[in-house]
Amino acid sequence: MTICIDMGATEIKVAPITQNENGISIGKIQRLPTNAHLGRDGIVDALYTAISSLCSADADGVAIASAGDIDTKTSVITYATGNLLGMEGFDFVRFCRDYFSLGARAINDAHAALLGEVEYGAGVNYRDMRVAMLTLGSGVGGAYYADGAIVTNEDNGFGRFGHLCIREGGRKCTCGKLGCSEAYLSGRAIHRDAAAMGIDGYDIFEKFALGESRNVEFVARFRENLGATLDRVMEISPFDVCIVGGGVADWMGAQFDSVVDNLGYNVIRASLGNSAGMYGAYAHYKENRQ
Ligand SMILES: [Zn+2]
Repeated sequence: MTICIDMGATEIKVAPITQNENGISIGKIQRLPTNAHLGRDGIVDALYTAISSLCSADADGVAIASAGDIDTKTSVITYATGNLLGMEGFDFVRFCRDYFSLGARAINDAHAALLGEVEYGAGVNYRDMRVAMLTLGSGVGGAYYADGAIVTNEDNGFGRFGHLCIREGGRKCTCGKLGCSEAYLSGRAIHRDAAAMGIDGYDIFEKFALGESRNVEFVARFRENLGATLDRVMEISPFDVCIVGGGVADWMGAQFDSVVDNLGYNVIRASLGNSAGMYGAYAHYKENRQ
C-alpha cells in the first residue's frame, strides 16, 4: 500500500492505493484543511497528520501531488505561490524519511492530474498520443503529455493553460495580465457571468439542454471561450485529445458532450474526479521510486 496525498491550498486529500493482480484500487479518501493561513508550520503539521493517519507497516512509501512547482528529481518545492506560503524549499523526501522512515516522490498537482488520467482514467487509450488537459476549477489549470511523459520546462511554467491570452485587452486576470482563459473559464468567472445574465448558476447546463434561451446564449459564449482556449493550446502544445476536468466539467453533467461538441477538437471528460491527483502521484511514485 502506498500513502497517496494531494496537497492543495485549501485541503489535503489522503488515501491508500494498493496494487494487486487486477490493477490498482484506491481506499477511503480523507480530507483535512491545509491550514495555509498558518504558514509553513501549519501546512507541515497538516501534512504530518495526513501521512500519520495511514502510516503503518503496510505502507511502502508516500506519493505526493502538491500545488507549487516541484523539482520532480529531488521532490523539493522550488516555487510556492501565495497558496502555500513559506513552503519554498520544502523537501518531501527528507520529511518522509525523517518522520516516517518512508521513501517519497512528489510531483506538481496539475501534472499529477493529467498523469493520473493517462495512466488510470479517461486517457488510458491515448498513452502513445499527445494529450492536453484543462482543469476548470476555482482557477484554470493545465498540463501536457507527449512521448509518454509530462512535458515541462525549466521553470515548470509549460502547460499553464489558464494564463494563455484568449482576448487581447480582455478581462483582468488574477495574475495581473489581461484576457487570460482563466478570467473566462474558471468556476468563479462562470458564476459571475451567469449571475450577470440572470441565470441561476446551479442548473446552467440542464436548462441549456432544455432550450432555455438565456442558457443557450450563455453556453454559446462559454463554447467560444473554450474554443479560443483550445486554439491557443493547440498552437503551443499540439494535442490529439484534450481532457477537460475540474468542477466545471462535473457541472456540465450529462450535457458535457453537447457542450464540447463540434469545437474542432477531440475533447473528452476527465474520469477520476477529485482523485486524479492521488492517482497521478501514485503513477509518478511507481515510476521513480528508488
Ligand atoms: Zn492570468
